[in-house]
Amino acid sequence: MNVLVTGGAGFIGTHTCVELLKSNHSILIIDNFENSHPEAVKRVEAITGKKVNFRQGDVRDIAFIKKQITDFKCEAVMHFAGLKAVGESCQNPLKYYDYNVAGTLSLLQAMQSCNVKKLVFSSSATVYGAPKRLPIVEDTELHTTNPYGRSKLIVEDILRDLYTSDPSWHIAILRYFNPVGAHKSGLIGEDPIGIPNNLMPIVAQVASNRREKLSIWGNDYPTKDGTGIRDYIHIVDLAIGHLKALESLNVAQCNAYNLGTGNGYSVLEVIKMFEHVSNQKIEYEIASRRDGDVAECYADPLYAMQQLDWKAERGLREMCEDMWNWQIKNPTGY
Ligand code: NAD
Ligand code: UDP
Repeated sequence: MNVLVTGGAGFIGTHTCVELLKSNHSILIIDNFENSHPEAVKRVEAITGKKVNFRQGDVRDIAFIKKQITDFKCEAVMHFAGLKAVGESCQNPLKYYDYNVAGTLSLLQAMQSCNVKKLVFSSSATVYGAPKRLPIVEDTELHTTNPYGRSKLIVEDILRDLYTSDPSWHIAILRYFNPVGAHKSGLIGEDPIGIPNNLMPIVAQVASNRREKLSIWGNDYPTKDGTGIRDYIHIVDLAIGHLKALESLNVAQCNAYNLGTGNGYSVLEVIKMFEHVSNQKIEYEIASRRDGDVAECYADPLYAMQQLDWKAERGLREMCEDMWNWQIKNPTGY
């Protein structure tokens, strides 16, 4: 299939492009490099041995997107382009609604006018807010507490409305839990600009002495060791989930799927595993809880297993090993 990949130079996009190319799909990456680097595209070529079609541009530019869809004879779109920092979204909500909501609207309008109706959309477990029941199933009531989360929920609602109005759309909404790790080659991985917000990149930077220590945001949660519990998922498993979702789009639908492992690990368990695989001491301090954090969040992955024939295969050890391999091979990113 000819697949247009927006945000394809980013963390999840690059890993998904590798899987798409391995499965002999043709891809065209569109990225404005707001949060990524052209080198990432070259690394995808190095891993796959294939030339990658690439255009620098913005998803909010409808004319540009229409031209790419037409020239490339695009059959399906994977839409990763967007912003993802919760804290920044609270400080600058308009930017988040512009990139994440207006950007997706432009893309959908361009797709509609070119009669391309297959879409895989990057949503997030953040649409579940503070879940009342664990593990989280897809039909849990959706609510969220910050502009980033709302931008994802608004787009999900737009997609459901679109499908109701025109059931010939084929839409998979993927709700990611906590993507971590890197490709085995150590050529692609997460390359956060500035101080990372997420646990795993900070742990990796402390292990490699790029940062002195990390703060654990709270050890007084009602969890096994008092620290927050999350469902970490290896980025390659997540990427393969996208491939499976794309393959499921031979039938018209608008379905949401959890992409998680179903296993929850605490912050202290992650640190311990990372110390083990890196053979480094990871210094930390206990700090107060971070605003908006929930105690526990992990997926029920059964629906994705049944509908997409997909299951995460890689465990926490492999996530930490691959993250460490990427970190030591690329100590300052791309
Ligand atoms: P990322 O920042 O690494 O990748 C996003 C890519 O989109 C970047 O290359 C960036 O330059 C590009 N981009 C941003 N705005 C653009 C625009 N207007 N036009 C063109 N390109 C643009 O992030 P990621 O971790 O790969 O996340 C991909 C998607 O998944 C995002 O939509 C994000 O919200 C969502 N998501 C990520 C996580 C996570 O933990 N990484 C979790 C849930 C959901
Ligand atoms: N966390 C932490 N210190 C950090 C970053 C994260 O203790 O510097 C904790 C956070 O409170 C949560 C877990 O690690 O319990 C995962 O946080 P992350 O930001 O990676 O993911 P999210 O909270 O968005 O699921």
